[in-house]
Amino acid sequence: MKYECNMIRDLLPLYKDGACSPESTKAVEEHLSECPSCKELLTELKDTSLDEMIVREKEEVIDSQSRFFKRKTALAGSIIAGILALPILICFIVDLANGKGLSWFFIVLAAMLIPTSLFVVPLMAPENRMFYTMCSFTVTVILLLAVCCIYSGGKWFFVAASAVLFGLTVCFSPFIACRRPVNKYLKDHKGLAVMAADTVTFFLMMLCIGLHVATPGYFKTAFGISTPLVAMAWIMFLIIRYLPVHGLAKAGICVVVLNVAAWIANSITAFIMTRDIGDSEVVISTTPSIGYTVIGIVIGAILTVIGFMIGKKKEAA
Ligand SMILES: [Zn+2]
Repeated sequence: MKYECNMIRDLLPLYKDGACSPESTKAVEEHLSECPSCKELLTELKDTSLDEMIVREKEEVIDSQSRFFKRKTALAGSIIAGILALPILICFIVDLANGKGLSWFFIVLAAMLIPTSLFVVPLMAPENRMFYTMCSFTVTVILLLAVCCIYSGGKWFFVAASAVLFGLTVCFSPFIACRRPVNKYLKDHKGLAVMAADTVTFFLMMLCIGLHVATPGYFKTAFGISTPLVAMAWIMFLIIRYLPVHGLAKAGICVVVLNVAAWIANSITAFIMTRDIGDSEVVISTTPSIGYTVIGIVIGAILTVIGFMIGKKKEAA
């Protein structure tokens, strides 16, 4: 044989793709006519190129199918949007015919935006569907409250909106925090962000209620009772999420915190009720029993000690 097998094998991929010079092609063909093992290698190379072709075709089919479904969902979104637009149009015409302004038109328009956010947004959003759907739903519900408040001449918008915002934050924030695009900014602190969002919207709601009812002593009473409970939720969250101890020790510490916080909150409630209401029966029923609190703290302490002991044993092992 004129050429080494290894030299020819280096050229085979180029030869297969027809990228060799005429001289190399001649050399390869000469060698292949004499060497069965190199010829077999060429057949194998051609076979793998067939595999690549199949993969490419498969990708093309998937691509065209996904384009097809995108067109279909866009069409479905447009049809739903059209159906939702119908009552808006009817109200517009009726309001114009009545000649008393566009009150119903704006109320129905705002109301129809809620189903739009639930059905059309997830169909039309190119990505991050969960995020856009939950955000647009929250915005449209608050918008509807605003429109209804304006046209009914009420003064309750901020109370209703802040309460709705707090409720939806509690429901949606765990999902939003775990999904794109929010999750990449929060990294390992999703729980912390959810707790912060819940706390901020909770106190915003309390503030709005206070400003609305304008009762003297509201803020002292409301914040006096709620702050220890919110603090308790925070302490328990931080213990469960960040304290590097055995699970049983965490549970024990949480039991202690729960009992202490409940006792503090009960004491404050009893104090406020004695001062404001002066009803002795109410005072008795809300006065915390120190006996139960002590039992709870002892149980929590025992769990904590057992948890620490198990943790130590595991570390030693
Ligand atoms: Zn050879």
